[in-house]
Amino acid sequence: MSFGDLVEFDCDLHIHSKYARATSPAMDFPALAVGAKQKGIDVIGTGDIIHGKWLENAKNLLEAEGGRFSFKEIDFILQTEIEDSNRVHHVVFLPDFSSVDSLREMVSKRCKDIDADGRPKVRAASVEIAEMVLDANGLIGPAHVFTPYFSVYSKFDSIKDCYKEYFDKVHFIELGLSADTFIADYIPELSRFTFLTNSDCHSPFPSRLGREFNRIEMREPTFCELEKALKRKGDNRVTLNVGLDERLGKYHESACNSCYAHYSFVEASSLKWQCSKCKKRIKKGVLDRAIEVGGGAKAVSKSPSHRPPYLHIATLTEIIALSRGVSDQASKKVKEIWQTIVSGFGDEITVLVDAEPEKIAEIDPLVAKVIRLFRQGKIVIVPGGGGKYGYLKFDTDKAPARGMNDGSGEQKSLFEFEKK
Ligand SMILES: [Zn+2]
Ligand SMILES: [Zn+2]
Repeated sequence: MSFGDLVEFDCDLHIHSKYARATSPAMDFPALAVGAKQKGIDVIGTGDIIHGKWLENAKNLLEAEGGRFSFKEIDFILQTEIEDSNRVHHVVFLPDFSSVDSLREMVSKRCKDIDADGRPKVRAASVEIAEMVLDANGLIGPAHVFTPYFSVYSKFDSIKDCYKEYFDKVHFIELGLSADTFIADYIPELSRFTFLTNSDCHSPFPSRLGREFNRIEMREPTFCELEKALKRKGDNRVTLNVGLDERLGKYHESACNSCYAHYSFVEASSLKWQCSKCKKRIKKGVLDRAIEVGGGAKAVSKSPSHRPPYLHIATLTEIIALSRGVSDQASKKVKEIWQTIVSGFGDEITVLVDAEPEKIAEIDPLVAKVIRLFRQGKIVIVPGGGGKYGYLKFDTDKAPARGMNDGSGEQKSLFEFEKK
């Protein structure tokens, strides 16, 4: 690679370390490097970089050279997530360790204990967080903007109300697992933003790390080059957003928090968001919230010309489980098949995104068929809602929504599907 050539990097820019709440104890740099290689991710956000112990780990392990931070051939962008006093989450990128140190110092003054959680809870408004990040020469944008908890649109009707005078200095938003470009482009104020699709993962395994990622064209995997891509300066660009089909997200449709009955926006509103079956609360889904913020029933989704394509995927373990008619994606059998396919192609992203089904069929014809059907939109996706993930099934299933994760054993295998 000579200087000046644009290169495509697959980047997952928001994760968490083992020092954040409810994360896997396996979440350290060596495991991330292994997971990234298996998945096919080139660049990872470090997560939690202003946490004392994680920062110490990063300073000891990451090789720093010319703005790059790498460990075992995987590049890292110094990154954290911060929760503000409105309980809104922000994704933050920082150029170097001195910026990290200075943000850590500013944040610790507004935090009971900055090392209590990898994702610090800060007693400061969004505006103040933005000011601190910009003072530290970092970049800030709202995380998983549509989730019904901890997101900008769960607290505000517009991003401008959140960042106020710093609104113009925010260049990206993170879509989150239950949303895609089509949904976000219902909202006119989002049209100038670069969209990011990140996993926000809590464990380093390939079913989690990189389950959403961005393909970014830049010259090197550095903060400076990333900044240009996010601001769409020069020819640096995010060229592809890749994410779980948004219907698989656990807050996609409006649904009861307790019995998971699904409701349309109109039904839920007329019930005052109380479930008619069990009287518990109906949680407003991401799609309904986007339409509501975007102007209600008359809203239309309109993408600006700079918007890259959005590719929907499912994780390979879920596809394998479906191909074999098993409900447990973590079973030994699924893992063995996963290992065989991934060793054949080098990594999971190549299988999910780039490989021809004919090539996959040489290794595993059943998985190749599911991938082909999935790409053709012929796999039924039962939408998630109320905190329960959506799932995949074949469209020959006449029985109503029974989860492939619920152990009901009703899922048809591809073999049965073919025989029909
Ligand atoms: Zn978050
Ligand atoms: Zn209910």
